Amino acid sequence: MNQSVLIQTLLILLAGIAFQSCGPGNDQGSLSPAAIDDRVLVSASNFPGDWLNHGLDYAETRYSPLSQINSENVDRLGLAWSLELGTKRGIEATPIVVDGILYASGTWSDVFAIDARDGTMLWKWDAEVPREYADKSCCDVVNRGVAVYRGKVFVGTLDGRIAAIDAGTGETVWENLTVDPEDFHTITGAPRVVRGKVIIGNGGAEFGVRGYVSAYNAETGEMEWRTYTVPGDPSLPFESEAMEMAAETWNGEWWKYGGGGTAWDSFAYDPKLNLLYVGTGNGSPWNRHIRSPGGGDNLFLSSILALNPDNGEYVWHYQTTPGDAWDFTATQHMILADLELNGELRQVIMQAPKNGFFFVLDRKTGEFLSGEPYVEVTWATGIDGETGRPIEAPGADYKYAPMTMSPAVWGGHNWHPMSYNPDTGLVYIPATLRTATYSQDENFVRRTDGPYNFGAKAIGEAPSTGHLLAWDPVLQKEAWRVPHAIDWNGGTMTTAGNLVFQGTGDARFIAFNAATGERLWEMFAGTGIIATPVTYLVDGIQYVTILAGWGGAYGLTLSPGGEAANYQQVGRVYTFKLDGSAPLPEFAIMDRQIPEVIEQQRPSPQLALQGAEIYNEYCQKCHGGNAVSLGVLPDLRYSAIVPTEAFHATVLEGLLLPLGMPRYDDRLDSQQVKLIQAFLLSRIFELKEE
Ligand code: CA
Repeated sequence: MNQSVLIQTLLILLAGIAFQSCGPGNDQGSLSPAAIDDRVLVSASNFPGDWLNHGLDYAETRYSPLSQINSENVDRLGLAWSLELGTKRGIEATPIVVDGILYASGTWSDVFAIDARDGTMLWKWDAEVPREYADKSCCDVVNRGVAVYRGKVFVGTLDGRIAAIDAGTGETVWENLTVDPEDFHTITGAPRVVRGKVIIGNGGAEFGVRGYVSAYNAETGEMEWRTYTVPGDPSLPFESEAMEMAAETWNGEWWKYGGGGTAWDSFAYDPKLNLLYVGTGNGSPWNRHIRSPGGGDNLFLSSILALNPDNGEYVWHYQTTPGDAWDFTATQHMILADLELNGELRQVIMQAPKNGFFFVLDRKTGEFLSGEPYVEVTWATGIDGETGRPIEAPGADYKYAPMTMSPAVWGGHNWHPMSYNPDTGLVYIPATLRTATYSQDENFVRRTDGPYNFGAKAIGEAPSTGHLLAWDPVLQKEAWRVPHAIDWNGGTMTTAGNLVFQGTGDARFIAFNAATGERLWEMFAGTGIIATPVTYLVDGIQYVTILAGWGGAYGLTLSPGGEAANYQQVGRVYTFKLDGSAPLPEFAIMDRQIPEVIEQQRPSPQLALQGAEIYNEYCQKCHGGNAVSLGVLPDLRYSAIVPTEAFHATVLEGLLLPLGMPRYDDRLDSQQVKLIQAFLLSRIFELKEE
């Protein structure tokens, strides 16, 4: 053992002892799920060995003060253990870690508890979500995590229940339905617990729903309040003054279309101000001329809402995209921080919503402080410093002519959480760049049988790219960036060890130097990663855990032929520590062959394009954007059925119904199926010619 290794080892031992003995009157490791109360959640940074909130702390920083693993020694990181989750579908959860136990959710909203020491599955809770809900979800049957409070684990299920599970036994304690099962509300986001209430939103704005947030008593499961994010039918009494005020900004008969504004992912909480922050989503339908003819900002679409968590009452709002028409949600992750701006310490809230601007607001009042593009933005020319409103670019209203713009529906950044490191002063954003051509859908009718309710067409343009972006929120400018192989990558976590961790869609798990972006360590995970890592201590040893598993097929474009695309996508938990030496699991190669096609089957580009539009409406949400599905569900470019007559029977007559492929004869006719087939054939020819 050379001297520097000896010193590092001693430091690690000392760090372990320090954490074991220097808790706030609390031995590290003695904190049990039953002991997690409001006091503990408010002071999560006093418990650096655990990961107590979805975003680590209520401020959602995803900044861990742990530094045993750091930029000097991260090259020694090795696998401690891995565990297969028994699914090939998407995994998006950030685990909660308490006293060496990981609590996480997987596909179909199932929840599991895993011993962080060795990967033993302690219990698994089957959410028993009816499988037909796959058709109600915009973006695969995923779930982004649980909350833990007073001995219970809380999860929102795809079919709209909020459930409390006993943290020790995995038994259901209570359940409550938070949605009308007749409509298209689904839950994929993680609940938060604030002052004894379980806070949960839902999604569904792609299918014509009205958004809301609800709070349930953590002990009993009773609903305590519900706050709508957009106004309902004005002939009925408004639920609140805020809804009355919001209704002033709508026109026509918006309530018949649902309106949207779903709060499907992000929350943050400031315990001193006692404000709960809620990110709201896009309009339903996307096209504002259908949703609200005659204009209007359409509050509170694409907004940050500050609510009183005790009763759900409105306090302030800031709308990131007035009159949204482009699926520019503000459901992206929000971070609370205290920043020195112009010589003054400001309490801010930061967000990088889909619309491409990085926003810094005063979190007490909602006052706009600054906003600059963090990716290329062409839909707006900037933000009016006086009003804090984005200035729409000429032509961005695609009613009269199609407009190609960025960002597009996938966002400059989507749900994958960003993190904030107070040591470097940087925010680490999983950024993506893809343009789309938007146009009016002249044939729109509201549908309640499954297809997207867009009222617009948005066709993605190549190429699309993704990168890890380090953003300085004070200077409002880029510090550095690292390009990734593809556009769709995982959330970020940062540490006091001067590290940023991120998984990538092409199956890498990577550690970067937080100050410089230098790539310090990586491993190949076999499976695409889009979830977000966590770090914690067990018996004084620092671990890093990431859930791997490709999912959320909506809108994805992957570089074809990438290494990861050759492997069977299998949901796994990977846990690492310094000098970990567990063997990597065996990665199964997918047995795929490009089907036989003859030259006469080559479709014209025009037919393929028409087919792409129908494919995007009905098929993309399961089989992937641009027909690249990466093994979650069949990749139709490798389907032997596509070039044959049997394709029609499969789509229209339910030939593969026993395997889970629905029949579409109630929604599609044979001419439309022929066009879908033309699109898929064009993709097969492209693959052959690569
Ligand atoms: Ca959306």
